[in-house]
Amino acid sequence: MDFNEYEEKAKSTATYDGKNAEYVLMYLTIGIAGESGEIAEKVKKIMRNHDGVITDEQREALKHEVGDVLWYLSQFSRALGFSFADAAEANLKKLEDRRARGVIKSSGDNR
Ligand SMILES: [Mg+2]
Repeated sequence: MDFNEYEEKAKSTATYDGKNAEYVLMYLTIGIAGESGEIAEKVKKIMRNHDGVITDEQREALKHEVGDVLWYLSQFSRALGFSFADAAEANLKKLEDRRARGVIKSSGDNR
């Protein structure tokens, strides 16, 4: 499955049809933050309770959370009028350019 196919299939499970663009953008932004937070929380508990040793069950739970973040990112991209695949491709292009210029370990968004 590629990102375009994923984005289309994910759209079918969105629950905000009929809401205005501002609502949708806010909903998706909160969703990204919330699901990312779920990953952070699970990893925190792995560190705190299991000395950083990840069980198969925890790995599976984290995989599900990665999927949740993916869902929100795909629909966030869609809501802003670009495809998730375009965002992924632009990211790889940006990183390759930074690597080629030797600034991949520097700081700043626009380097
Ligand atoms: Mg989740």
